[in-house]
Formats: sequence, structure tokens, C-alpha cells
Amino acid sequence: TWGSVREQLIKRVGQNNYTTWIAPLQLRELNNGVAHFTVPNTFFGDWVSRHFGDHICQHLTAAGADVSRLEFSVSRTPAGPDTAAPAPQPAARPVLAGRGSAEDADLPGAPLDSRFTFDSFVVGKPNELAHAAARRVAEGGPVTFNPLFLYGGVGLGKTHLMHAIAHELIAGRPDLRVLYLSAEQFMYRFIQALRDKQIMGFKELFRSVDVLMVDDVQFIAGKESTQEEFFHTFNALVDQNKQIVISADRAPGEIKGLEERIRSRLQCGLVVDLHPTDYELRLGILQQKAEHYRGQYRGLQIAPGVLEFLAHRISTNVRVLEGALTRLFAFASLVGREISLELAQDCLADILRASDRKISVEDIQRKVAEHYNVRLADLIGPKRVRTIARPRQVAMYLSKHLTTRSLPDIGRRFGGRDHTTIMHGVRKVEELMATDSQLADDLQMLRRQLEG
Ligand code: ADP
Ligand code: MG
Repeated sequence: TWGSVREQLIKRVGQNNYTTWIAPLQLRELNNGVAHFTVPNTFFGDWVSRHFGDHICQHLTAAGADVSRLEFSVSRTPAGPDTAAPAPQPAARPVLAGRGSAEDADLPGAPLDSRFTFDSFVVGKPNELAHAAARRVAEGGPVTFNPLFLYGGVGLGKTHLMHAIAHELIAGRPDLRVLYLSAEQFMYRFIQALRDKQIMGFKELFRSVDVLMVDDVQFIAGKESTQEEFFHTFNALVDQNKQIVISADRAPGEIKGLEERIRSRLQCGLVVDLHPTDYELRLGILQQKAEHYRGQYRGLQIAPGVLEFLAHRISTNVRVLEGALTRLFAFASLVGREISLELAQDCLADILRASDRKISVEDIQRKVAEHYNVRLADLIGPKRVRTIARPRQVAMYLSKHLTTRSLPDIGRRFGGRDHTTIMHGVRKVEELMATDSQLADDLQMLRRQLEG
């Protein structure tokens, strides 16, 4: 039966889909209304199940097999070297920071990720200051600012920069005692030392390093005794003129539950933030990673415009961006196709959708009201004066272009306006944009701010 069902399926799903998705399926057994298939990997199984599951069930049933469910298991013999699932990321090398000399093996540091170097860090406007400051510290010269405090949202490269500093310092001076760890690990070590009555050893150890780097320091907010110990460690090192590098997800002044004296000490060095990525930076990062993957998946082509599409559509953190590209390459190599726009849209549908949800009509309205200095209530309300009507149209235009909401839906969010009113507003802005360069600039700026 499977043979004849396959022929039916060619007609149903088209030759291309058939070759890619149906032909590799191996029907292992039919049992109690369940059809068991063998597939090259789990991703493949999920995909077939989502896109063609119903068709397969229907045609099997039509052929007399009465199937109500499909099951996929992964075949144990891989079909070939190129069908491998996502390339395994090289594991973080378990290197203790500062392990240059034998006696330093006692440093309780976290492993440094060998991929997080200055070479692999793409510099753009949003991170150039943080990068420059990190570079300066990594030169290992006389301590100019202490601490270096790096802050910014999730996935913007704080940890990457800290590891890069550590790599660079150790490469330049293998005898340097560089200790990198997260604030959480600091707390854990501290508690352990308390419990084991090893607190003197703990203090000595932390005071004996040349460079101390503590990642995600917001973690110790509200943890009183850990803060206390951190404060003393910090002061002792600063007094000895040892470099300290700290990161957090927000500025020192904004970390709640942090003691005032710690806050002010954290602020007395150099505080730099990593801004949300912009389009150029995202594209730069994608290009760099794509270059890397092209080496890994030999011969795999990316159609023009795909990276631009991703840089434009995925505006969340760099980690998400990287994940998208990793999946795309793995998937394309699996099916042996070029990375086209359609493939990207298909394969990354969930990420793209999640990214879309990020900008809401309300965000847009708020931003636009702020930009044109009009009240939010007026922007949504009925006033028709031009100083308000124009910003309102701009907000409508952006809502249409930056969210996935339908026009009636957008209308509801603009004080219950009709979808034709929204359409009119959108058209008006499109029309004006061509001749009004101020408006075009405004739109571009708003767009950037909203897309992060
Ligand atoms: P954070 O610590 O700020 O949450 P990470 O440093 O862990 O973020 O970065 C998340 C991921 O994004 C890492 O894989 C990192 O290599 C990558 N990344 C972030 N910024 C850049 C950049 N400017 N260039 C290259 N890769 C980056
Ligand atoms: Mg981090």
C-alpha cells in the first residue's frame, strides 16, 4: 500500500515536497491505527508531521489502512555525512581562568568559552564604547578605570566581552591571575566557605587575584551577607590597584536591593552600556556567522537578501539571531537546498512570529506620541487638527508595517476606528513619504527605535 499511497502523495503535495519530505520516509509498521515511520532526525519528523501528517493519514486510510496517528522514530544509521542535525557547538573549554601557572589551578573561576574572543565580536554603533573600554582593560596596562562596569539587556554581548578580556589578558601574560565568575557562583562559593568554616581561605583567595571579573552582579541584589563580602573583596582589590570588571543587566543606580555604598563604588569607575542592536550590527553579526557556517557546511549557498531579511525581522537579542542561523544552516544542509527566503520563512516561522509579537500597537502609539510631543489620549482620541492627525497617521502606518495585526484590529486600538480609516491613514503616509523628507526621517527613526 505505501507504494501506491506515495504515488497519491506526489500529486497531493507536489514533486518538490515529495522528494524532500515523503520519499525519505520509511514505513516500518502499521499497527492498531498507528503508522510508524523512520526519519533521519527529530526535526524532520516534526516537520513532516506538521505539514503533511494529515495528508499521509488520509491517503493511508483511503488505501484501506485506517490510520489515525503517525509516529516517527529516528533511524540509527545516518544516511550520510551531510544529513547531520545541527552541528554540535564546540563545548565551552573547561579552562580555569588564570590557569597559566600550576599554582593557579586553585582559582575557582568559571570556564571561559573559547569562541568569545575580540576577533569574533562584531563592533557597531550600539556596542562600540563598551568594546573600546573592554579592549583597553584587555591591554593590561596601568589600571585607568576601576571597576569597568558593563551593562545591557540579555544577549547583547556582556559575557562575550568579559571572556574576550580574560582570553586576551591571559594570552599576553600567562602568569596573571585572572578570575572570572558569575555573581551567583561568587555567592555559592561564599556560602560554601561559610558552611565549611573556610572563610579565611575564601577571603585570601579572592584577594590574591590580579583581575576579578564578576558577571551578572544584579544577582546579589537583596542578598545581604553576600553583598557585604563582595564589598570587602572589591575594596581590598581596588586598594591594591587590581583591575575589576563587572557586568549587570542594568545600570548600578537601577539595581534595586543593592546597598548604597556598593552602588556608589560600582559607579566610580567607568560605566558603559551595550545598547540594543541596530540593523547594521545584526547584519554584521549574521554575515560573520554565515561566513563561519559556510566553511562548516561546505557548498551551502545563501540566496541574496536572506541575511538582510533576518536582520530586519529578528530584533531581539543576538542569541536568538544566532539560533536562527544555526537552525537554518542545519536544515538547509539536511534537505540539500539553497537557503532561500521561503526556506527561511518556513523553517523559522516560530522565531519570526515570536519576534513579531514584540512590537505592539500600544508601543507604537506611545513612541509616536512621545516623538511628536502630543498626548497619548489625543493620538487615540477624535481630534482632527493636523498637529495630531499626522502623528496619528504615522502611528497607523507603523502599526500596519511593524505588527501582524489586521486593519480592523488596529482600528479597534485607535479608539474604535473603522478599518477604512486606518487604510486611509496608511496610504496618506505612504504618499507623503515620497516627497516629505522630514517625515521619511521621522519614520526611519521611529522604526529603528521600535525595532530595537
Ligand atoms: P549577555 O551576556 O549580554 O546576555 P552574551 O555575551 O552571552 O550576552 O551574548 C549572547 C550571544 O550573542 C553569544 O553567543 C555571543 O557570542 C553573541 N554576541 C553578542 N554580541 C555579539 C557581537 N557584537 N558580535 C558577535 N557575537 C555577539
Ligand atoms: Mg551574560
